[in-house]
Amino acid sequence: MHQRCIECGATYDLHQRLLACAACGDLLEIVVEVRQSPDELKALWRERRMSNDPRDLSGVWRFREFLPGGYQRVVTLGEGNCPLVQGQRSAAWAGLRNLSFKHLGWNPTGCFKDLGMTTGVTEALAAGAQIVACASTGNTSGSMAAYAARAGMKARVFLPAGMVSLAKVAQSIDYGAELVEIDGNFDNALETMLASGDGEVYFLNSINPFRIEGQKTVVFELMTQLDWQPPDYIVCPGGNLGNSSAFGKALEEMKAHGLIEKVPRLIVVQAEGANPLARLWRKGSGELEPVSNPETVATAIRIGNPRSWKKAMRVLRFTQGMVLDVTDEEIGDAKEMIGRDGIGCEPASATTLAGLRKLVAENRIEPDASVVAILTGHVLKDPAYIIKRHQYVAAGAAEVSAH
Ligand SMILES: *Cc1c(COP(=O)(O)O)cnc(C)c1O
Ligand SMILES: [Zn+2]
Repeated sequence: MHQRCIECGATYDLHQRLLACAACGDLLEIVVEVRQSPDELKALWRERRMSNDPRDLSGVWRFREFLPGGYQRVVTLGEGNCPLVQGQRSAAWAGLRNLSFKHLGWNPTGCFKDLGMTTGVTEALAAGAQIVACASTGNTSGSMAAYAARAGMKARVFLPAGMVSLAKVAQSIDYGAELVEIDGNFDNALETMLASGDGEVYFLNSINPFRIEGQKTVVFELMTQLDWQPPDYIVCPGGNLGNSSAFGKALEEMKAHGLIEKVPRLIVVQAEGANPLARLWRKGSGELEPVSNPETVATAIRIGNPRSWKKAMRVLRFTQGMVLDVTDEEIGDAKEMIGRDGIGCEPASATTLAGLRKLVAENRIEPDASVVAILTGHVLKDPAYIIKRHQYVAAGAAEVSAH
Protein backbone atom coordinates (compact mmCIF):
# COMPACT_ATOMS: atom_id res chain seq x y z
CA MET A 1 0.00 0.00 0.00
CA HIS A 2 1.12 3.58 -0.57
CA GLN A 3 -0.09 7.19 -0.67
CA ARG A 4 -0.88 8.83 -3.99
CA CYS A 5 -1.74 12.39 -5.03
CA ILE A 6 -5.25 12.65 -6.49
CA GLU A 7 -4.14 15.35 -8.95
CA CYS A 8 -0.60 14.65 -10.25
CA GLY A 9 -0.32 10.98 -9.29
CA ALA A 10 2.94 11.37 -7.32
CA THR A 11 3.37 8.47 -4.91
CA TYR A 12 4.71 8.34 -1.34
CA ASP A 13 5.41 5.65 1.24
CA LEU A 14 2.35 4.59 3.18
CA HIS A 15 3.49 6.02 6.51
CA GLN A 16 5.36 9.09 5.25
CA ARG A 17 4.08 12.05 7.27
CA LEU A 18 2.56 14.51 4.79
CA LEU A 19 -0.40 16.86 4.84
CA ALA A 20 -0.62 17.19 1.09
CA CYS A 21 1.27 16.27 -2.08
CA ALA A 22 4.82 17.63 -1.89
CA ALA A 23 4.83 18.20 -5.65
CA CYS A 24 1.52 19.96 -6.30
CA GLY A 25 -0.17 20.53 -2.92
CA ASP A 26 -3.34 18.57 -3.67
CA LEU A 27 -4.87 15.88 -1.47
CA LEU A 28 -3.45 12.42 -0.96
CA GLU A 29 -5.27 9.13 -0.96
CA ILE A 30 -4.27 5.64 0.06
CA VAL A 31 -3.93 2.95 -2.57
CA VAL A 32 -4.78 -0.47 -1.19
CA GLU A 33 -3.38 -3.82 -2.19
CA VAL A 34 -5.49 -6.83 -1.34
CA ARG A 35 -4.46 -10.41 -2.15
CA GLN A 36 -7.34 -12.55 -0.88
CA SER A 37 -10.18 -13.56 -3.18
CA PRO A 38 -13.69 -12.11 -2.68
CA ASP A 39 -14.94 -15.42 -1.26
CA GLU A 40 -12.03 -15.68 1.17
CA LEU A 41 -12.64 -12.11 2.36
CA LYS A 42 -16.37 -12.58 2.86
CA ALA A 43 -15.80 -15.77 4.88
CA LEU A 44 -13.04 -14.15 6.95
CA TRP A 45 -15.16 -11.12 7.84
CA ARG A 46 -18.09 -13.33 8.81
CA GLU A 47 -15.86 -15.50 11.04
CA ARG A 48 -14.44 -12.48 12.84
CA ARG A 49 -17.88 -11.65 14.19
CA MET A 50 -17.49 -14.58 16.57
CA SER A 51 -14.12 -13.40 17.86
CA ASN A 52 -13.41 -11.24 20.92
CA ASP A 53 -10.18 -9.75 19.57
CA PRO A 54 -10.67 -5.95 19.90
CA ARG A 55 -9.82 -5.51 16.22
CA ASP A 56 -12.49 -8.02 15.24
CA LEU A 57 -15.05 -6.39 17.53
CA SER A 58 -14.46 -3.05 15.81
CA GLY A 59 -16.69 -2.50 12.78
CA VAL A 60 -13.72 -0.71 11.21
CA TRP A 61 -10.73 -2.97 11.86
CA ARG A 62 -12.75 -6.10 11.06
CA PHE A 63 -12.20 -5.07 7.43
CA ARG A 64 -8.46 -4.47 7.90
CA GLU A 65 -7.44 -6.17 4.65
CA PHE A 66 -8.55 -2.89 3.03
CA LEU A 67 -6.91 -0.64 5.65
CA PRO A 68 -3.37 0.62 6.23
CA GLY A 69 -1.59 -1.73 8.58
CA GLY A 70 1.63 -2.57 10.37
CA TYR A 71 0.50 -1.01 13.66
CA GLN A 72 1.75 -2.14 17.07
CA ARG A 73 -1.28 -0.66 18.76
CA VAL A 74 -4.73 0.01 17.38
CA VAL A 75 -6.70 2.75 19.18
CA THR A 76 -10.29 1.51 19.25
CA LEU A 77 -13.48 2.10 21.21
CA GLY A 78 -15.45 -0.67 19.50
CA GLU A 79 -16.73 1.73 16.82
CA GLY A 80 -18.91 0.72 13.90
CA ASN A 81 -21.40 -2.16 14.21
CA CYS A 82 -24.21 0.26 13.46
CA PRO A 83 -27.54 -1.34 12.59
CA LEU A 84 -29.69 -0.90 9.52
CA VAL A 85 -33.11 0.26 10.66
CA GLN A 86 -36.26 0.30 8.54
CA GLY A 87 -37.93 3.69 8.43
CA GLN A 88 -41.56 2.99 7.54
CA ARG A 89 -43.08 6.39 8.24
CA SER A 90 -40.11 8.18 6.76
CA ALA A 91 -40.32 6.01 3.65
CA ALA A 92 -44.00 6.76 3.16
CA TRP A 93 -43.35 10.47 3.67
CA ALA A 94 -40.64 10.45 1.00
CA GLY A 95 -42.74 8.29 -1.36
CA LEU A 96 -40.45 5.27 -1.17
CA ARG A 97 -41.26 1.62 -0.53
CA ASN A 98 -37.84 0.34 0.44
CA LEU A 99 -35.87 2.71 2.66
CA SER A 100 -33.56 1.86 5.53
CA PHE A 101 -31.30 4.00 7.66
CA LYS A 102 -27.77 3.11 8.60
CA HIS A 103 -27.36 5.11 11.78
CA LEU A 104 -23.75 6.11 12.33
CA GLY A 105 -24.90 8.31 15.21
CA TRP A 106 -24.87 5.11 17.25
CA ASN A 107 -21.07 5.17 17.40
CA PRO A 108 -19.12 5.68 20.69
CA THR A 109 -19.19 9.51 20.57
CA GLY A 110 -22.50 9.75 18.72
CA CYS A 111 -21.39 10.34 15.16
CA PHE A 112 -19.59 8.75 12.22
CA LYS A 113 -16.36 10.67 12.86
CA ASP A 114 -15.30 7.82 15.18
CA LEU A 115 -14.85 5.54 12.18
CA GLY A 116 -12.14 7.79 10.75
CA MET A 117 -10.66 8.70 14.11
CA THR A 118 -9.84 5.12 15.06
CA THR A 119 -7.65 4.89 11.94
CA GLY A 120 -6.40 8.51 12.06
CA VAL A 121 -5.39 8.43 15.74
CA THR A 122 -3.83 4.98 15.31
CA GLU A 123 -1.65 6.40 12.52
CA ALA A 124 -0.84 9.52 14.59
CA LEU A 125 0.28 7.31 17.49
CA ALA A 126 2.47 5.23 15.20
CA ALA A 127 3.97 8.45 13.80
CA GLY A 128 5.00 9.42 17.34
CA ALA A 129 2.65 12.41 17.60
CA GLN A 130 1.95 13.80 21.08
CA ILE A 131 -0.53 16.47 20.07
CA VAL A 132 -3.36 16.01 17.57
CA ALA A 133 -5.46 18.88 16.24
CA CYS A 134 -8.54 19.49 14.14
CA ALA A 135 -10.92 22.25 13.13
CA SER A 136 -14.50 21.27 13.73
CA THR A 137 -18.16 22.17 13.69
CA GLY A 138 -18.32 20.07 16.86
CA ASN A 139 -18.41 16.38 16.04
CA THR A 140 -14.88 15.94 14.73
CA SER A 141 -13.55 17.57 17.88
CA GLY A 142 -15.53 15.35 20.25
CA SER A 143 -14.48 12.25 18.39
CA MET A 144 -10.81 13.22 18.09
CA ALA A 145 -10.69 14.16 21.77
CA ALA A 146 -12.07 10.76 22.79
CA TYR A 147 -9.61 8.76 20.69
CA ALA A 148 -6.68 11.00 21.68
CA ALA A 149 -7.57 10.42 25.32
CA ARG A 150 -7.54 6.65 24.71
CA ALA A 151 -4.14 6.96 23.08
CA GLY A 152 -2.70 9.21 25.80
CA MET A 153 -2.25 12.17 23.46
CA LYS A 154 -3.21 15.82 23.81
CA ALA A 155 -6.13 17.04 21.70
CA ARG A 156 -6.36 20.63 20.46
CA VAL A 157 -9.61 21.61 18.78
CA PHE A 158 -10.30 24.75 16.73
CA LEU A 159 -13.98 25.70 16.93
CA PRO A 160 -15.93 28.57 15.32
CA ALA A 161 -16.97 30.57 18.39
CA GLY A 162 -20.71 30.59 19.08
CA MET A 163 -21.53 28.27 16.17
CA VAL A 164 -21.13 24.88 17.81
CA SER A 165 -23.88 22.99 19.63
CA LEU A 166 -23.29 23.18 23.39
CA ALA A 167 -23.62 19.40 23.68
CA LYS A 168 -20.66 18.99 21.35
CA VAL A 169 -18.50 21.56 23.14
CA ALA A 170 -19.29 19.82 26.42
CA GLN A 171 -18.25 16.48 24.96
CA SER A 172 -14.84 17.80 23.87
CA ILE A 173 -14.25 19.30 27.31
CA ASP A 174 -15.24 16.06 29.00
CA TYR A 175 -12.64 14.13 26.99
CA GLY A 176 -10.00 16.67 28.06
CA ALA A 177 -9.47 18.63 24.85
CA GLU A 178 -7.85 22.05 24.72
CA LEU A 179 -10.32 24.44 23.05
CA VAL A 180 -9.22 27.20 20.67
CA GLU A 181 -12.21 29.36 19.74
CA ILE A 182 -11.97 31.19 16.41
CA ASP A 183 -13.85 34.35 15.42
CA GLY A 184 -15.37 33.19 12.16
CA ASN A 185 -16.85 30.06 10.65
CA PHE A 186 -15.57 26.51 10.16
CA ASP A 187 -13.61 27.43 7.03
CA ASN A 188 -11.75 30.14 9.00
CA ALA A 189 -11.10 27.69 11.83
CA LEU A 190 -9.59 25.19 9.39
CA GLU A 191 -7.36 27.88 7.86
CA THR A 192 -6.19 28.98 11.31
CA MET A 193 -5.41 25.43 12.32
CA LEU A 194 -3.44 24.70 9.14
CA ALA A 195 -1.42 27.89 9.64
CA SER A 196 -0.70 26.95 13.26
CA GLY A 197 1.35 23.89 12.34
CA ASP A 198 4.87 23.62 13.73
CA GLY A 199 5.61 20.01 12.85
CA GLU A 200 4.82 18.89 16.42
CA VAL A 201 1.11 18.79 15.87
CA TYR A 202 -0.55 16.03 13.86
CA PHE A 203 -3.59 17.27 11.91
CA LEU A 204 -6.70 15.12 11.84
CA ASN A 205 -9.18 16.85 9.55
CA SER A 206 -10.62 14.78 6.75
CA ILE A 207 -7.91 16.01 4.37
CA ASN A 208 -5.93 13.35 6.26
CA PRO A 209 -6.27 10.24 4.06
CA PHE A 210 -6.07 7.87 7.04
CA ARG A 211 -9.42 9.17 8.25
CA ILE A 212 -11.03 8.46 4.89
CA GLU A 213 -9.85 4.85 5.15
CA GLY A 214 -11.74 4.27 8.40
CA GLN A 215 -14.86 5.99 7.13
CA LYS A 216 -15.00 3.87 4.01
CA THR A 217 -15.67 0.73 6.10
CA VAL A 218 -19.27 1.97 6.48
CA VAL A 219 -19.97 0.59 3.04
CA PHE A 220 -18.15 -2.69 3.73
CA GLU A 221 -20.24 -3.19 6.85
CA LEU A 222 -23.38 -2.18 4.97
CA MET A 223 -22.75 -4.81 2.28
CA THR A 224 -22.28 -7.55 4.89
CA GLN A 225 -25.64 -6.50 6.39
CA LEU A 226 -27.25 -6.76 2.96
CA ASP A 227 -25.62 -10.14 2.20
CA TRP A 228 -23.66 -8.45 -0.57
CA GLN A 229 -26.76 -7.35 -2.49
CA PRO A 230 -26.08 -3.65 -3.14
CA PRO A 231 -29.01 -1.20 -2.87
CA ASP A 232 -29.89 1.04 -5.80
CA TYR A 233 -28.93 4.19 -3.93
CA ILE A 234 -26.83 5.29 -0.97
CA VAL A 235 -27.62 8.79 0.31
CA CYS A 236 -25.49 10.92 2.62
CA PRO A 237 -25.19 14.56 3.74
CA GLY A 238 -22.38 16.67 2.27
CA GLY A 239 -20.29 19.07 4.36
CA ASN A 240 -16.54 18.89 3.93
CA LEU A 241 -17.23 15.85 1.69
CA GLY A 242 -14.96 13.41 3.46
CA ASN A 243 -17.79 10.96 3.96
CA SER A 244 -19.03 10.96 0.38
CA SER A 245 -15.45 10.56 -0.85
CA ALA A 246 -14.91 7.67 1.55
CA PHE A 247 -18.11 5.85 0.56
CA GLY A 248 -17.29 6.24 -3.12
CA LYS A 249 -13.74 4.99 -2.57
CA ALA A 250 -15.16 1.91 -0.87
CA LEU A 251 -17.42 1.25 -3.86
CA GLU A 252 -14.53 1.70 -6.31
CA GLU A 253 -12.39 -0.76 -4.35
CA MET A 254 -15.15 -3.32 -3.87
CA LYS A 255 -15.97 -3.26 -7.55
CA ALA A 256 -12.30 -3.52 -8.54
CA HIS A 257 -11.77 -6.51 -6.21
CA GLY A 258 -14.89 -8.32 -7.37
CA LEU A 259 -16.75 -8.03 -4.06
CA ILE A 260 -19.72 -6.43 -5.80
CA GLU A 261 -20.93 -6.37 -9.39
CA LYS A 262 -23.50 -3.61 -9.34
CA VAL A 263 -22.42 -0.19 -8.03
CA PRO A 264 -25.08 1.74 -6.06
CA ARG A 265 -25.59 5.36 -7.09
CA LEU A 266 -24.33 7.81 -4.50
CA ILE A 267 -26.53 10.80 -3.66
CA VAL A 268 -25.05 13.74 -1.74
CA VAL A 269 -27.42 16.23 -0.12
CA GLN A 270 -26.30 19.68 1.02
CA ALA A 271 -28.11 22.47 2.87
CA GLU A 272 -29.21 25.27 0.56
CA GLY A 273 -27.19 27.87 2.47
CA ALA A 274 -23.98 25.81 2.31
CA ASN A 275 -24.22 24.23 -1.13
CA PRO A 276 -21.00 24.73 -3.12
CA LEU A 277 -21.00 21.13 -4.43
CA ALA A 278 -24.66 21.30 -5.48
CA ARG A 279 -23.87 24.49 -7.39
CA LEU A 280 -20.88 22.93 -9.09
CA TRP A 281 -22.97 19.88 -9.96
CA ARG A 282 -25.66 22.03 -11.60
CA LYS A 283 -22.98 23.90 -13.53
CA GLY A 284 -21.65 20.57 -14.78
CA SER A 285 -17.92 21.29 -14.88
CA GLY A 286 -15.13 23.56 -13.69
CA GLU A 287 -13.76 24.41 -10.27
CA LEU A 288 -15.65 24.57 -7.00
CA GLU A 289 -16.62 28.11 -6.01
CA PRO A 290 -16.69 28.41 -2.23
CA VAL A 291 -19.74 29.89 -0.50
CA SER A 292 -18.29 32.72 1.59
CA ASN A 293 -21.00 32.93 4.26
CA PRO A 294 -22.42 29.45 4.75
CA GLU A 295 -25.69 29.49 6.70
CA THR A 296 -27.84 26.58 7.83
CA VAL A 297 -29.45 25.18 10.97
CA ALA A 298 -27.57 21.97 10.19
CA THR A 299 -24.36 23.24 11.80
CA ALA A 300 -22.43 20.03 11.11
CA ILE A 301 -22.54 20.85 7.39
CA ARG A 302 -22.22 24.62 7.64
CA ILE A 303 -19.14 24.59 5.42
CA GLY A 304 -18.51 26.86 2.45
CA ASN A 305 -15.20 25.54 1.14
CA PRO A 306 -15.19 21.73 1.25
CA ARG A 307 -11.65 20.44 0.89
CA SER A 308 -12.51 17.04 -0.55
CA TRP A 309 -14.60 18.30 -3.48
CA LYS A 310 -12.36 16.76 -6.16
CA LYS A 311 -12.52 13.36 -4.51
CA ALA A 312 -16.28 13.71 -4.20
CA MET A 313 -16.70 14.67 -7.87
CA ARG A 314 -14.64 11.66 -8.94
CA VAL A 315 -16.72 9.16 -7.00
CA LEU A 316 -19.97 10.81 -8.06
CA ARG A 317 -18.98 10.27 -11.67
CA PHE A 318 -17.91 6.71 -10.95
CA THR A 319 -21.22 5.85 -9.29
CA GLN A 320 -23.35 7.93 -11.67
CA GLY A 321 -24.43 9.84 -8.61
CA MET A 322 -26.42 12.98 -7.96
CA VAL A 323 -26.04 16.10 -5.81
CA LEU A 324 -28.86 18.32 -4.60
CA ASP A 325 -29.66 20.80 -1.86
CA VAL A 326 -32.59 21.24 0.53
CA THR A 327 -33.86 24.14 2.64
CA ASP A 328 -33.62 24.37 6.41
CA GLU A 329 -37.39 23.98 6.59
CA GLU A 330 -37.23 20.74 4.58
CA ILE A 331 -34.45 19.51 6.88
CA GLY A 332 -36.62 20.23 9.92
CA ASP A 333 -39.63 18.39 8.47
CA ALA A 334 -37.51 15.37 7.55
CA LYS A 335 -35.92 15.30 10.98
CA GLU A 336 -39.35 15.16 12.60
CA MET A 337 -40.31 12.16 10.45
CA ILE A 338 -37.13 10.30 11.41
CA GLY A 339 -38.04 11.00 15.03
CA ARG A 340 -41.53 9.57 14.46
CA ASP A 341 -39.91 6.35 13.32
CA GLY A 342 -38.31 6.13 16.77
CA ILE A 343 -34.87 6.69 15.31
CA GLY A 344 -33.93 10.36 15.62
CA CYS A 345 -30.85 12.16 14.32
CA GLU A 346 -29.20 15.55 14.29
CA PRO A 347 -30.28 18.12 11.69
CA ALA A 348 -27.42 17.49 9.21
CA SER A 349 -28.39 13.81 8.96
CA ALA A 350 -31.98 14.66 8.03
CA THR A 351 -30.84 16.21 4.73
CA THR A 352 -30.84 12.63 3.42
CA LEU A 353 -34.57 12.09 3.86
CA ALA A 354 -35.39 15.64 2.77
CA GLY A 355 -33.38 15.09 -0.41
CA LEU A 356 -35.05 11.74 -1.11
CA ARG A 357 -38.53 13.24 -0.84
CA LYS A 358 -37.54 15.88 -3.34
CA LEU A 359 -36.01 13.38 -5.78
CA VAL A 360 -39.09 11.14 -5.70
CA ALA A 361 -41.39 14.14 -6.23
CA GLU A 362 -39.31 15.19 -9.23
CA ASN A 363 -39.35 11.62 -10.66
CA ARG A 364 -35.59 11.37 -10.37
CA ILE A 365 -35.84 8.25 -8.17
CA GLU A 366 -38.31 5.41 -8.69
CA PRO A 367 -40.61 4.73 -5.69
CA ASP A 368 -39.61 1.05 -5.85
CA ALA A 369 -35.88 1.67 -5.64
CA SER A 370 -33.96 0.21 -2.71
CA VAL A 371 -32.40 3.05 -0.77
CA VAL A 372 -30.05 3.25 2.20
CA ALA A 373 -29.80 6.64 3.87
CA ILE A 374 -26.80 7.28 6.07
CA LEU A 375 -27.62 9.07 9.32
CA THR A 376 -24.48 10.75 10.55
CA GLY A 377 -25.20 12.07 14.05
CA HIS A 378 -27.21 11.19 17.19
CA VAL A 379 -30.43 13.01 18.11
CA LEU A 380 -28.87 14.35 21.35
CA LYS A 381 -26.04 16.11 19.53
CA ASP A 382 -28.16 19.24 19.10
CA PRO A 383 -30.99 19.39 21.65
CA ALA A 384 -31.22 23.20 21.40
CA TYR A 385 -32.39 22.90 17.81
CA ILE A 386 -35.28 20.62 18.77
CA ILE A 387 -36.43 22.81 21.64
CA LYS A 388 -36.31 25.93 19.52
CA ARG A 389 -38.17 24.43 16.61
CA HIS A 390 -40.99 23.06 18.71
CA GLN A 391 -41.43 26.15 20.83
CA TYR A 392 -41.77 28.06 17.60
CA VAL A 393 -44.45 25.73 16.28
CA ALA A 394 -46.35 25.89 19.59
CA ALA A 395 -46.29 29.69 19.69
CA GLY A 396 -47.45 29.90 16.07
CA ALA A 397 -50.35 27.51 16.74
CA ALA A 398 -51.50 29.57 19.75
CA GLU A 399 -51.53 32.70 17.64
CA VAL A 400 -53.61 31.05 14.93
CA SER A 401 -56.27 29.78 17.35
CA ALA A 402 -56.52 33.20 19.05
CA HIS A 403 -57.76 34.84 15.85
C1 LIG B 1 -19.12 15.89 9.88
C2 LIG B 1 -20.56 15.67 9.73
C3 LIG B 1 -21.19 15.73 8.48
C4 LIG B 1 -20.46 16.10 7.23
O1 LIG B 1 -19.59 15.11 6.78
P1 LIG B 1 -18.48 15.44 5.68
O2 LIG B 1 -17.66 14.23 5.63
O3 LIG B 1 -17.72 16.63 6.20
O4 LIG B 1 -19.20 15.77 4.42
C5 LIG B 1 -22.53 15.43 8.40
N1 LIG B 1 -23.25 15.13 9.50
C6 LIG B 1 -22.69 15.09 10.71
C7 LIG B 1 -23.54 14.77 11.89
C8 LIG B 1 -21.33 15.37 10.87
O5 LIG B 1 -20.80 15.33 12.08
ZN1 LIG C 1 0.42 16.12 -6.59
